Amino acid sequence: MVCKIPEWVLYYPKEKQHIRNPGRIEMSEQLIVWMVKLRMIKLEDHLGRRFEKLRISLLNECNFSCVYCVSEDFGDISVNTVQKSPADQPLTPDEFTRLIEAVHRLTGLKSIRLTGGEPLLYSNLFPLINHIQKIGISDIRLTTNAYYLKEKASRLFDAGVKSINISVDAIDQDIFNEISRHPNTSRVFSGIDAAVKAGMNVKLNAVIMRGKNDSQIIPLLDYATALGVKIRFLELMKMGHLYHSENGLFFSEKEMLSIIQEKYAIESIQREHAETAHYWRTSNGGTFGIIANESTPFCHDCNRLRMDSNGFFYGCLSNAHGEKLSAYMDDDFLLTEKLRGLLRLKQPVKFHGSELSMRNIGG
Ligand code: SAM
Ligand code: SF4
Repeated sequence: MVCKIPEWVLYYPKEKQHIRNPGRIEMSEQLIVWMVKLRMIKLEDHLGRRFEKLRISLLNECNFSCVYCVSEDFGDISVNTVQKSPADQPLTPDEFTRLIEAVHRLTGLKSIRLTGGEPLLYSNLFPLINHIQKIGISDIRLTTNAYYLKEKASRLFDAGVKSINISVDAIDQDIFNEISRHPNTSRVFSGIDAAVKAGMNVKLNAVIMRGKNDSQIIPLLDYATALGVKIRFLELMKMGHLYHSENGLFFSEKEMLSIIQEKYAIESIQREHAETAHYWRTSNGGTFGIIANESTPFCHDCNRLRMDSNGFFYGCLSNAHGEKLSAYMDDDFLLTEKLRGLLRLKQPVKFHGSELSMRNIGG
């Protein structure tokens, strides 16, 4: 079959642009797909953004009910229960793998981050990691609340998960329990120890909220520095139940920096391409980052694609409705067009919030 060059052929490297001639040259679908697979045509948007990293929310369930992630209306938030969403039917490892493989064929994914909900609650986690490696993606990372990490850290490391992000919103146990709505957050710290001991590259994440845990910035920073790991402080994002709220809990990058500078001299580190965080070194040898969606947005070079636990894909965190790609798995041309459509959904500058919670779309 012969077709007109689609508009997206415009978005490929400058050095190849002399062969583009939309409207006049005709190329077969197969030729286009072949060129995409060989990376002669890059699937990228007008800002040069590509899908290089895939984040997968393995399930919506979580044993925590963090105040910024789970609404109080979300069923029973009594402590220590696993929060199940009514529509929660996670894919099997085979189903996930098929989708990942198809996307990888066309985009050449560099890394995959497994997240959730709480990914350590996904019962087929290890078979899935194994399947992903067989596809040829060796950089597999995980984001977790670390409650179940102590028992799993070294097995995860051996399975190929060398890099892990751990959420820890306070050192003070009462504050941490209150934010996560869980009575036993001390297990998080043994999980962090186990990950460091296993040899993983550990990064800590703390969402900072006014009047809730802004007092914890220095204790968290000192804890991370003593442990020799990086910590990132996150500005609160208007997602899920926070989408229509006043955002009175919002605590800005500027405010975080001012608290840290009262104690330490800091030196900025050059931001790397597509990094969500801007990093600084402290005068006592620590490194911290700030993920400032609101104050210092980073959409302009975003390279992330997301998949939820039901197999819906999202080109941008701000999309509340995903695209089911399973129907296009065997048609690389249509799949390419769908991926290109997802790329188009990326915000040009800044994330403006979403009705979806982070636990659905995968943080
Ligand atoms: N359960 C795991 C955890 O907590 O690390 C993985 C999933 S969680 C949704 C991923 C990350 O999203 C966590 O670091 C969490 O703090 C962050 N997050 C969730 N809701 C957020 C919000 N409204 N604003 C900023 N970060 C948020
Ligand atoms: Fe669970 Fe992570 Fe959401 Fe907290 S942020 S409720 S740990 S999914």
